[in-house]
Amino acid sequence: MHKPQSSSDWIARSLRSVWHPCTQMQHHEEVPLIAVSHGKGPWLYDHEGRRYLDGISSWWVNLFGHANPRINAALKDQLDRLEHAMLAGFTHEPVIALSEKLAALTGYNLGHAFYASDGASAVEIAMKMSFHFWRNGGYSAKQEFVCLQGSYHGETIGALSVTDVPLFKDAYGPLLRAAHVVPAPDARNAQEGESAQDVARRAIGDVRSLFEQRGDRIAAIIVEPLVQCATGMAMYDPLYLELLRELCDQHHVHLIADEIAVGCGRTGTFFACEQAAIWPDFLCLSKGISGGYLPLSLVLSSDAVYQAFYSEDITRGFLHSHSYTGNPLACRAALATLDIFEQDDVLNRNRELATKLTIALAPLAEHERVRHFRQRGMIFAFDAVEPDAARASSFARRFFTAAVEHELLLRPIGRTVYLMPPYVLDEEEVAGLAARTQKVFDTVIAH
Ligand SMILES: *Cc1c(COP(=O)(O)O)cnc(C)c1O
Repeated sequence: MHKPQSSSDWIARSLRSVWHPCTQMQHHEEVPLIAVSHGKGPWLYDHEGRRYLDGISSWWVNLFGHANPRINAALKDQLDRLEHAMLAGFTHEPVIALSEKLAALTGYNLGHAFYASDGASAVEIAMKMSFHFWRNGGYSAKQEFVCLQGSYHGETIGALSVTDVPLFKDAYGPLLRAAHVVPAPDARNAQEGESAQDVARRAIGDVRSLFEQRGDRIAAIIVEPLVQCATGMAMYDPLYLELLRELCDQHHVHLIADEIAVGCGRTGTFFACEQAAIWPDFLCLSKGISGGYLPLSLVLSSDAVYQAFYSEDITRGFLHSHSYTGNPLACRAALATLDIFEQDDVLNRNRELATKLTIALAPLAEHERVRHFRQRGMIFAFDAVEPDAARASSFARRFFTAAVEHELLLRPIGRTVYLMPPYVLDEEEVAGLAARTQKVFDTVIAH
């Protein structure tokens, strides 16, 4: 273990013993595997000292760079106090302070925090809570869920049942409980003369008909507010969320906002829902909440939800638990992350950063082989035009490989290239990220 090893040694050992996620392992016969030795700011380094600009925040989790000194210091301090204690019958300062901060961030509209470790578990919790809420109120027929076309909410069985990404879902179809899938308000679906708001209104029409027919059977609708990330950064107008909130109120259907990817400032506001001036009944957070340090997820819910479970009867209480619920180290990383938001006025600074990146990406936006350049907050995406079917299907892999050769970590989704960088890029990194992306795109598209 202590003998210095080259990247190729680590890679060979990894391929023998580690089963990598979201990967056909055989593809690693061609696609490079990068053995990371350390990270600093937006950069990851391998064992030979080659570096990679982390343009996708290591699967959307990192906010303030790798090995961030402030988060590191908080964790070192926490480590000497308390690494973990069970959260049933016990409580501790990090989980209390974090819950209070999150409640305050929602203006106390969602003042109760329930914890888990990964995003998919937060989705499971929101779904179970919604169903159980209705059952406690005598509406046990409300058992169905609604999701949007192209939705992604995680890959455990319950979360996968409200996910609409065929690649992830089809293989496990027989294990899943069918959900209702309604059209997405994706602004790219605009017909001639239609605005993004028109698309939103049209998509709401379908939800309305479904609620009118089956509202008494439906527990909740789950959405990724403003950007459906995993399906390829499909962006839509906030009006959709505003109208959806009204419909949910009219038909007594819960609104679950899965802000696992879009929360924590990613779309420009701390919560994406703020841009529609609404609050959901349940809000799921994970990914960026710990700054990308430790597995942490949570579901925020309203007082009305909480009160429906408050009783003498244990079976009316919420029945769910994970061993690492509210882990103090993870909560402390989250507190340090929220401190940085406050101390550095991050949301305002990100506005400038996003403008700079948009300007730097302008040549790509106008590229003749690019369609639908789009941006919201710190998410940037465009679709590559690749008429050749074989080349189109290998586009993402070829792009990833070429990006690595240009010191860049980018992983397109199909033909959608996106940037979701950490919030700590300096001027040079902004320019470098845009220039490298363009260079890689030209190489891959022209080859
Ligand atoms: C990543 C993601 C999840 C799942 O989170 P995991 O931690 O990977 O289980 C759920 N919903 C959305 C919107 C996500 O982006």
